[in-house]
Amino acid sequence: MKLFDKYPVWISNSLSNKKEKFVPVHAGNVGIYVCGPTVYQDVHLGNMRTFLSFDVITRYFRHLGYKVRYVRNITDVGHLVGDADEGEDKISKRARLEQLEPMEIVQKYTMDFHQVSQVFNMLPPDIEPSATGHILEQIEHTQKLLEKGLAYEVNGSVYFDVKKYNESHNYGKLSGRNIEDMQESGRSLDSQDEKRDKIDFALWKNASPNHIMRWNSPWGKGFPGWHLECTVMSTKYLGETFDIHGGGLDLKFPHHECEIAQSVGVTEKDPVNYWIHSNMLTVNGQKMSKSLGNSFLPHELFSGNHPLLERAFSPMTVRFFMLQSHYSSTLDFSNEALSAAEKGFKRLMNGYKTIENLNATGNSPDSELSNKFKELIDSLYTNMSDDFNTAKALAILFEMTTLVNDLYGKKISPKELDNESWGNFKTAYKSMITDVLGLLPEEEGNQSRLGEVVDLLIKIRKEAKEARDFKRSDQIRDELKSLGVSLMDGKDGTTYSFD
Ligand code: AMP
Ligand code: ZN
Repeated sequence: MKLFDKYPVWISNSLSNKKEKFVPVHAGNVGIYVCGPTVYQDVHLGNMRTFLSFDVITRYFRHLGYKVRYVRNITDVGHLVGDADEGEDKISKRARLEQLEPMEIVQKYTMDFHQVSQVFNMLPPDIEPSATGHILEQIEHTQKLLEKGLAYEVNGSVYFDVKKYNESHNYGKLSGRNIEDMQESGRSLDSQDEKRDKIDFALWKNASPNHIMRWNSPWGKGFPGWHLECTVMSTKYLGETFDIHGGGLDLKFPHHECEIAQSVGVTEKDPVNYWIHSNMLTVNGQKMSKSLGNSFLPHELFSGNHPLLERAFSPMTVRFFMLQSHYSSTLDFSNEALSAAEKGFKRLMNGYKTIENLNATGNSPDSELSNKFKELIDSLYTNMSDDFNTAKALAILFEMTTLVNDLYGKKISPKELDNESWGNFKTAYKSMITDVLGLLPEEEGNQSRLGEVVDLLIKIRKEAKEARDFKRSDQIRDELKSLGVSLMDGKDGTTYSFD
């Protein structure tokens, strides 16, 4: 029996707004498509929160025994400034400002993204397609929509006809909007506009001769619309209907809504069974975004070099901090929250290192303790399978850490532990921390030196005891305690833990 049979996954589907039991299109397989970054600037911590959420989701599916194909694209053309249909391409604009070729910009920021992903221990996607690598497919898809009468051409540009589509389908079903409301809001079309209706969106845009990124098409030289790339790349690699499509909540409308319309318009099939949207990283309640000036780059966080930061925080502390909240809730950044996460991460990692050398010698599979282990393992999986609740999973891992520390501090003797139950406990604990949550022990630098200092104090205390200087030995214990270091005296010597 696979773990996924024992712990079926439930997903909050943004399409139905319900929690639904996950049933894959192809048994035992999961296809996931996540909208990747537009590579025109360094990725900030907000972007990384979204990618981290999907990293954990992918890792968990794999851990449960599914064969996962994880596709995450690189947007390297078509995403215009302001996310609109008019204006400069984000990549071209940056190329102009940095006086580089657009593809140099793409290369530079793709490499930055990969490097940052690695530092956060995010697994690379199985396929990382780019929009410029799929121009032909985008042209073909546009042609099909034209043939179906769901698109129209004006001056070498092609637009999706939303009203026409909505006559027989439901445009707005993902975002819960209706086209009458959309038509009433925002600015109206003026005589300059080519679109028939302001709610229409670009599939292909005509490019003027001074536009650097342009390709031949049946409608003249131009470039694809932003929404189209994800439609063609997701269906090319995952099929006309695939399992999961993800991205940040800010992409739900218009980007993902348009993706659905473009796919359904051609195939008459829903492209995605489960839509997952991760929520925003905020700073003082405001979305972290470069344009608002409240974003940090990961390296600023690791160096502490940013006016909003009181000090530096390590990559794993940041990863842990993000996992402490559910992906669908907003997460507010603060120095205090990161400091608390740092403590939590260290406590967990102490448990992780400690458990390695703790072995059981007993044989009591039905003892109270063995049952407690089973319950904790069960609860770990049940919570992860309940819409990937990393916050609850961490809480359970802390309960498990307390047991690890009790065993280490000899509050529980190895003889009381059933060998097999302990083995299962150890495997679940370790694999959930590293394989699923992707948390790894870090080179601790000053932290390991601190450990050496505590060892030295333990040695001096032992010598004081041997010289029957109990006043001094108690003083060392009490003062360490007040500094957050607890000493535990056991048969095999004294150990310590950090509060
Ligand atoms: P972009 O490069 O702007 O296309 O964004 C890449 C991804 O980062 C998208 O999935 C966005 O939804 C996501 N994103 C942008 N800002 C934030 C934020 N403050 N918190 C979480 N995700 C974000
Ligand atoms: Zn996309």
